[in-house]
Amino acid sequence: MHYLSTRGHAARPSFSEILLGGLAPDGGLYLPSTYPQVTRAELDAWRSLSYADLAFQVLDKFATDIPDEDLKNLVNRTYTAEVYRNCRPGEDATRITPLRILEQDDGRQLVLQSLSNGPTLAFKDMAMQLLGNLFEYTLKKQGSELNILGATSGDTGSAAEYAMRGKQGIKVFMLSPRHKMSAFQTAQMFSLQDPNIFNIAVDGVFDDCQDMVKAVSNDLEFKTHQKIGTVNSINWARVVAQVIYYFRGYLSATESSNQHVSFTVPSGNFGNICAGHIARMMGLPIKKLVVATNENDVLHEFFQTGSYRVRKSSETLHTSSPSMDISKASNFERFIYDLLDGDTDRVRQLFHKVEREGGFDLSGKPGSDGNEFASVGRFGFFSGKSTHADRTKTIRDAATRYRLIVDTHTADGIKVAREHIEKDVPMIVLETALPAKFNETIREVLGRDADRPAGFENIESLPQRFDVMAVDVAEIKRYVAAHTGL
Ligand SMILES: *Cc1c(COP(=O)(O)O)cnc(C)c1O
Repeated sequence: MHYLSTRGHAARPSFSEILLGGLAPDGGLYLPSTYPQVTRAELDAWRSLSYADLAFQVLDKFATDIPDEDLKNLVNRTYTAEVYRNCRPGEDATRITPLRILEQDDGRQLVLQSLSNGPTLAFKDMAMQLLGNLFEYTLKKQGSELNILGATSGDTGSAAEYAMRGKQGIKVFMLSPRHKMSAFQTAQMFSLQDPNIFNIAVDGVFDDCQDMVKAVSNDLEFKTHQKIGTVNSINWARVVAQVIYYFRGYLSATESSNQHVSFTVPSGNFGNICAGHIARMMGLPIKKLVVATNENDVLHEFFQTGSYRVRKSSETLHTSSPSMDISKASNFERFIYDLLDGDTDRVRQLFHKVEREGGFDLSGKPGSDGNEFASVGRFGFFSGKSTHADRTKTIRDAATRYRLIVDTHTADGIKVAREHIEKDVPMIVLETALPAKFNETIREVLGRDADRPAGFENIESLPQRFDVMAVDVAEIKRYVAAHTGL
């Protein structure tokens, strides 16, 4: 299996060669040169597998340059009931992503797939935990080391730290805006005592943190010498690790491989649902892939009109489902590549136009950039939007009807899923976080706190380990160099 860039760069790297990197040299995103296919017979055989064994089968089709025995060992260490123990009472932790039927009415079934039982209570652990083990394995083989520099406003940073803590050959330098994260999120990150994790609280906002990371990355000499890398959502291994749970969800919700299911995915950077698209391209019988957005509806707008119009950060709203507050969907280019049948020249032109003019239009209207919006249906995509009022109504409704507290992002998913559910096709909503993580809204809506999994009761009172820094690029460079010793 080889990989190509959505913008046409000539190199054809292997899985291990793109594992530690981000963008392709031409600014494109990596995709496999063809999507490996899964037969009905394979699907049938996979029904009885454990999550780890299923993960091996799926990853084995993509990570062809990792020996089977090593890959098995990696997934067995990653997908354990111990790592995914934060499930709700009554759920089976050994299932890793347990399913729960919310509604069953006249052949219309609404199902919730829990993806948030890992260490940071959000779905990003599903991929990041594997990444931590894959990185450590690969670095050891290469006799190399990696210093991850990132900026976070919450979810990604904590998932990365919990995945990389204690890993040999890896250090994490995570910038976050001081006093801007919730007490819970701050405690989750800052209470880590592992010597390879460095929390840096920046006296500024998230954009300042991100600008500092960009400035360091643009200094190529520093970046190379200090072996700086990232773990952002465009990383191919993260996407492919997410493909696994679409297979698990399908196999758990059906009895025969002749059946179809649909998925609704609370979306931001289009990483999660991009994995669903890849599962569908591999032949998994998915009928609809429904993109759920909040008030920041860049993606909903595209799937309604064919026009992709990114927003400025000043136009990005702060909502009660903050992990979906994005102005530009960093994985969207992967889908556009498939929509344009792999025409890399046009993908490159369109995404240069995004940088220059803030968007493109595939509606086919006079003056537009193409008419491929007409074939979006071929890929099963639908979309919907949920607002703060919808979210609070859904949380209240789920608490009464299902006796279940759902988080704000998942509530967006449930609201939109209801608009696309159909007879005889189970609709699976992906639960992207546990409610304890976004408790402020839960308390506001229900007048009580969401349950916290065992071990999280007093997280805010644990000792915290972090350094404070001004918005100062020279200072972060000094800090990194001092701690890497390079
Ligand atoms: C990251 C995140 C999302 C958005 O996922 P994408 O892959 O960026 O589309 C949704 N919900 C939660 C809780 C998240 O942390």
